[in-house]
Amino acid sequence: MKTLITFAYLVAAIFFIYGIKKLSLVRTARIGNAYSAAGMLIAVVVTLVDIGKVDYTFILAGLIVGSAIGLYTAMKVEMTAMPQMVAVFNGFGGGASALVSLSVFWKYVVDVSATGVAADILGANTAVTMALGILIGAVTFTGSFVAFAKLQGLIPGKPILFPGRHLLNLLLLLAGIAAGVYFAFMAPAPGISTLAFLALFVLSLALGVFLVTPIGGADMPVVISLLNSYSGIAASMAGFVIGNNLLIISGALVGASGLILTNIMCKAMNRSLVNVLFGGFGAEAEKDSGGGSSEYKNVKDYGPEEAFLMFDAAQTIVIVPGYGLAVAQAQHEIKELASILQKQGKDVKYGIHPVAGRMPGHMNVLLAEANVPYELLYDMESINPEFQNTDLVLVVGANDVVNPAAQDRKGSPIYGMPILEVFKAQSVLVVKRSLSPGFAGIKNELFENDNTFMLFGDAKKVLKELISEAKSVSV
Ligand code: NDP
Repeated sequence: MKTLITFAYLVAAIFFIYGIKKLSLVRTARIGNAYSAAGMLIAVVVTLVDIGKVDYTFILAGLIVGSAIGLYTAMKVEMTAMPQMVAVFNGFGGGASALVSLSVFWKYVVDVSATGVAADILGANTAVTMALGILIGAVTFTGSFVAFAKLQGLIPGKPILFPGRHLLNLLLLLAGIAAGVYFAFMAPAPGISTLAFLALFVLSLALGVFLVTPIGGADMPVVISLLNSYSGIAASMAGFVIGNNLLIISGALVGASGLILTNIMCKAMNRSLVNVLFGGFGAEAEKDSGGGSSEYKNVKDYGPEEAFLMFDAAQTIVIVPGYGLAVAQAQHEIKELASILQKQGKDVKYGIHPVAGRMPGHMNVLLAEANVPYELLYDMESINPEFQNTDLVLVVGANDVVNPAAQDRKGSPIYGMPILEVFKAQSVLVVKRSLSPGFAGIKNELFENDNTFMLFGDAKKVLKELISEAKSVSV
C-alpha cells in the first residue's frame, strides 16, 4: 500500500511539473492549469486514503465553504484586481502552513503535556522545520495582506519609510531566530515551549508587516512574486513537519517558480532584488515627479476622425496596450481594429512590456481572451529596434511603460526601468481619458512631444469610434 501511495504521489508531482511547463506559454496555459488541477485531485484523494480513518464531516464542510468563497471571489474579481487576489492567496497559503506547524506542536507537545525539549519529543528535523514554517508562513501572511492593502488603495501605495527600519527588521529576524532555537532545543517544559513558540509567531507576523511597508510603487509586482515564492517554501516546511513528500515537492515547486518569476520581474524593472527589498525606491517621487512640472504644454488633442487619417497614412503600425486597456475591457475592440487594418494591407504588430498592466503577463492574458494571434505579440527586446521604422504607434491605456523619464530623468521612481521606445516612431497616438499619471504617479513627457497626438476618452469608446471610421474607409 505504501509503495502505491508513493507512486501516486510521484504521478501527482509529474502532473504539477508538466502543468507548470505548460503554463509558461499563453497558448498552452489552460491545459497546464488542467494538468496541475488533476495532480492536486490525485494528491488530495491519495492523502485521504493514506491517512485512513478520516472524519469526512470537516472535510466536506471545508470543501463546501471554501469552494463557495472561491467561486464567489473568482466570479466577482475584476481582471485588474488580480494582483490583490494573488496577494491574498499567497497570504492564506503562508498562514495555512504556519497553522499546520502550530497544530502539530499543539497535538504532540501541549495536548499531551510532554516534557523535555521539542527536538527530543518531535525529532530535531521536525522541530526546526516547524520553527521555519512558522517564521516564513507568518511573514508571508502579514506581508501579503500589507501588499493587498497597498494594491487595493486601503493604505498608501508608495513606500512608507521610517528611520531605523533596517535595524528594526534585523532585530525582529534575530529575535525570531533566537525564539525558534530556544523553542526547538532549549525550552524544557510545554509552558515555556509554548511561550517561545508564540513569541516566534508574533515576531514573524510583525516582521512581515515591517518588511513590506517600506516597499511600494512600481516595485509591487516583484514583492508579490517574492511572497508567492515564500508561500511555497512555507508549504514545503509544512510538508516536512507532517512528513508528506508531495507537499514538500509542490511547495518547493512554488518556491522555485516564484523565485524565477521574481528574477524575471527584477530584470524587467532593471532592479536588483536587494534594491527592491531595501531601497525604498520611489518614496522621493513627489520631490521630483520624474518629468519636471506636472503641467503639460504643447499637448495636441485629436478627435477620432483626425486620428483615423493617421492610420490611413501609415503602413507599419505597432499597438502598445497598457493597464487602461484592461480597465476599459477593450481587448475585443483592439483586435477588431487591428483586423480591419490588416485587411487594408497594413502591417500590424503588438508591443508588449513585461510589467504592463497590474500582473505579470497581464497583456498576454487580455489579448488572448480576444484571440489575438500569438505571432503578432512582440516582447520589448524584439519590438524596440523596430520603432524607428514604424509609421504609427497606437498606445492604448499605457503610460509608465512608454515614459521616457525612465531613460532620462535621474531620481524618477521609474528611472532605469526599460521602456517601450515608442517616441522613436514617426507618430504616436495615445488613447487615455485624461493627462492623469499611471501607476508610478509621474508626468509623462511623451505626451508633449511634437510627434505625439492625444485621443482622449475611454479606450473602449474611442476604439469603437476608430473602428467605425475604419469601416467607412473599407466600404
Ligand atoms: P499605467 O498604470 O502606467 O497607466 C495606465 C493608464 O491607463 C493611466 O495613465 C490611465 O490614464 C489610463 N486608463 C485608465 N483607465 C482607462 C480607460 N478606461 N480608458 C483609457 N485609458 C485608461 O499602466 P502601464 O500598463 O503603462 O504600466 C503598468 C504600471 O503598473 C507600471 O508602473 C508597473 O510597474 C506597475 N505594476 C505592474 C504590475 C505587473 O505585474 N504588471 C503589478 C503592479 C504594478 P487616464 O486616467 O488618463 O485614463
